Amino acid sequence: MDRKIKKKLSALDPRFRKKIEELFESMSESVSMLYEVATHDEKTGLYNNKFFETLLDMEIEKAKRGQQKLSMIIIDIDFFKKVNDKYGHMKADELLKKLADVIRKNVRKSDIAARFGGEEFIILLPETDLEKAKSFSLKLRRLVHADKTLKKHKLTVSGGVTQFRTKEDSKKKFKERVDKALYNAKSIGRDKFVAVK
Ligand code: GH3
Ligand code: MG
Ligand code: MG
Repeated sequence: MDRKIKKKLSALDPRFRKKIEELFESMSESVSMLYEVATHDEKTGLYNNKFFETLLDMEIEKAKRGQQKLSMIIIDIDFFKKVNDKYGHMKADELLKKLADVIRKNVRKSDIAARFGGEEFIILLPETDLEKAKSFSLKLRRLVHADKTLKKHKLTVSGGVTQFRTKEDSKKKFKERVDKALYNAKSIGRDKFVAVK
C-alpha cells in the first residue's frame, strides 16, 4: 500500500481502518488475478498469444530505435495429433505442460516465452543474434530429448529461428520468416530447428 494512504489511514478509527485495509487488499488481489488472466495462458502459465503480440511490438520498437539485436524461435510439437490419439487428451496435455516447463526453466529472464496456439510456442530473445538463438534452439532440442517424461513418450519438436532485420523488416515479415523456417524444419523430417537469416 502507498505510504501516503497508509499515513491517512493511521488517523482513522481502528475499526474503519481495518475494513479499508481489507478492501485494499482484496482489490489488489483482484487486480493481480485480472492481470494474470489477461496476459497468461491458463494451461501452461506462459504468456498468451495476445500479450505476446503487445510485447513483440515493444521489442521491435526497441530493436529499431536502439539498433539492437532481436531473435525469435517458434516451436511446434511433432505429430501431436498422433500423441493425442495414442495416449489420450489428458496425457497429451501433461506433455504439453511439461514442454512449457522445459521452456520456462531455460529461457533468460529477459526472454519472452509464450504459448502461441494449440501446440505451438514462441520465444522472443532480445539482444540475441541468429547464431546465439540457433544454439539456444539446439539446447532446447537436447533438453526435450533428455527429459524423462518427454523421452518416454517419444515427444519431439521442430522449430524455426530468425533474427529481426532492423533496417528493412516489419513485424509481418519477421513472423512470416520464422514460420517458413518452421515449415522447412517439418519438411526435412521434423525433430529439427532451421535458422533463416
Ligand atoms: P506436425 O508435426 O505437422 O505439427 O503434426 P501435428 O499433428 O502436431 O499437427 P496438426 O496441426 O495436424 O495437429 C495439431 C494437434 O495438436 C491437433 C490437436 O488435437 C493437438 N492440440 C492442440 N492443442 C492442444 C491442447 O491444448 N491439448 C492437447 N491435448 N492437444 C492439443
Ligand atoms: Mg501446429
Ligand atoms: Mg505440431
